[in-house]
Amino acid sequence: MLSLTKSGEIVMTGSIDVLVVGAGFAGMYAVHRFRNLGLNVKALEAGDDIGGTWYWNRYPGARCDVPSLEYSFGFSPELEQEWDWPEVFSAQADILRYANHIADRFDLRRNMQFDTRVASVEWQDDTLQWKLTSEAGEVFEAPYCVMATGCLSVPIKPEIAGAASFRGEVYHTGSWPKEPVNLEGKRVGIIGTGSSGVQAIPELARQSGHLTVFQRTPVYTIPANRKRMRDAVQQEFREHYREIRALQQVNAGGVSNFRPRKSVRRTEEAPRVPTRLLDLTPEQRQQVLQAQGLGALLAFRDVNTHPEANEVANTLYRETVRRMIKDPATAERLLPKTYGLGCKRQVLDRDYYETFNRDDVTLIDLVETPIDQITDTGVRTTSERYELDVLIYATGFDAMTGALLRANIRGRDGVELKQKWADGPVAYLGLQMSGFPNLFTVTGPGSPSVLCNMLVAIEQHVNWIGDCVTHLQATNQRTIEPLPGSEQSWIEHVNSVADGTMYTAPTCNSWYLGANVPGKPRIFMPYVGGFPRYRERCEMEASNGYPGFRVAKD
Ligand code: FAD
Ligand code: NAP
Repeated sequence: MLSLTKSGEIVMTGSIDVLVVGAGFAGMYAVHRFRNLGLNVKALEAGDDIGGTWYWNRYPGARCDVPSLEYSFGFSPELEQEWDWPEVFSAQADILRYANHIADRFDLRRNMQFDTRVASVEWQDDTLQWKLTSEAGEVFEAPYCVMATGCLSVPIKPEIAGAASFRGEVYHTGSWPKEPVNLEGKRVGIIGTGSSGVQAIPELARQSGHLTVFQRTPVYTIPANRKRMRDAVQQEFREHYREIRALQQVNAGGVSNFRPRKSVRRTEEAPRVPTRLLDLTPEQRQQVLQAQGLGALLAFRDVNTHPEANEVANTLYRETVRRMIKDPATAERLLPKTYGLGCKRQVLDRDYYETFNRDDVTLIDLVETPIDQITDTGVRTTSERYELDVLIYATGFDAMTGALLRANIRGRDGVELKQKWADGPVAYLGLQMSGFPNLFTVTGPGSPSVLCNMLVAIEQHVNWIGDCVTHLQATNQRTIEPLPGSEQSWIEHVNSVADGTMYTAPTCNSWYLGANVPGKPRIFMPYVGGFPRYRERCEMEASNGYPGFRVAKD
């Protein structure tokens, strides 16, 4: 409960109503939202401060691929008006500054406990409470638990023989140190060429003495927008933020695509592109590429759904990249050939291909010459030894389910989430699991989540959960959990909309499918049916009194 003191300060009294795990953007907004609903909320965070992704991923080059003016919260018009974004697509440090501003402005840290990793989350059948135990053995109890543990918050390193023997510095992009890392004059090696590797590689090349890139699968990457923010554009966004937030709600990816009308120069207007690549002649395709660059390929709808269009786009992509790389053998190694555009999360870069034209950068193709062993002084492949001072893993995350499963969640009758999800995640709307009453997941598997502008997805989920808890309290109910049938039919729907897209093509191996973690069931985890359709389904549940759920007094 919240009470007002004589001096006008709002303080928490009594026991905790809602425990939130995680203090990234989801945990931060959850604290704000639940507090405003008059609930006593406490967030537990493994790190020593707020920010989540933007706290942990401080590697050189880390940044957002959603425009900053859209990758921002919409719950506070004042916040929208007072924040200045320096670039169109923000760097990690600016997003973390934004997160800190929010934490300070809304005094969020008052309801947060840091350096507290939750080691177990157990439902108490007798008290109808969740019992959370930290790694240090501290115990917290509350009737509601919100897992705001992030989709990309568990960095993973592959098992490579000899890895522990390396005597140089070792870093993972997903848990980069807070302290500056000095790479000057050093021999640096990096394993991994996904989004993180592609962002880091050009910066690491600039900062180090020599960079060796160990690549297993080449990536499709397109040049990022590198523009500084123009005051006039920012101002126009501020004037139209209510319209923009409404547009985000009806866009499949939660992005308004608002085009400033007054402040945009005519040359910046996006030329109209036909929706099907196959409708264009070869000459027209070249013209589009020349005028708009590689990114244009992604605008054609059939590239994502039609194998022939996809292969045309892949070929055009390869032809373009070949022209960018001086050494033909290096170019061939950099070209993705085993899967198509649209299978993985689209990567954006700044100078990625150009970096391989530098004399102080070496590309090693691990398909030609796999890593044999990591030694005390570097990496040995089947053909060479590479002496290194620093080894960087850009090898990704145990995505979407990793943080939830590591929290050792046990529901009714002691049933483990690990058991329930042995064949892949089963949840209703990516929000709740049957057998786990009053436990909510923010941007969980089966919701649009990572296929959406995540701040839009987070706000929608936290608002829904807040409304749900309010409903339970108003109707004197004590628990809510999905009916097994709703869960099952939702999973079938999630799978059916993903089928036939490039995301689930047989040649595709992405973290969306769990393919980057040995032994993880191959299931397409996020909901590809679009944010509006999904949001309407959630709203329908709430407005009809939660028909897909069991709402009860026990
Ligand atoms: P997180 O930010 O991951 O926060 C989860 C928090 O939970 C972490 O701080 C973690 O320490 C904590 N936690 C986890 N388990 C426990 C536990 N057991 N006990 C205590 N604490 C725990 N999304 C976009 O929409 N656009 C982008 O351009 C974009 N770029 C990204 C770039 C990178 C490098 C990465 C890794 C992700 C990116 N994302 C992007 C996704 C990004 O994760 C989300 O946008 C958003 O920041 C997620 O916020 P969150 O609070 O849900 O999760
Ligand atoms: P990732 O996409 O999973 O890439 C991991 C890389 O490591 C891949 O190149 C992978 O190669 C390689 N790898 C893994 N195990 C290996 C091994 N044993 N040997 C050699 N190489 C190995 O992870 P990520 O780059 O960290 O990105 C994850 C997600 O975070 C992104 O998809 C995105 O959603 C988010 N992100 C976004 C941005 C942004 O631009 N906004 C930036 C960074 C991250 P294989 O492909 O062969 O497995």
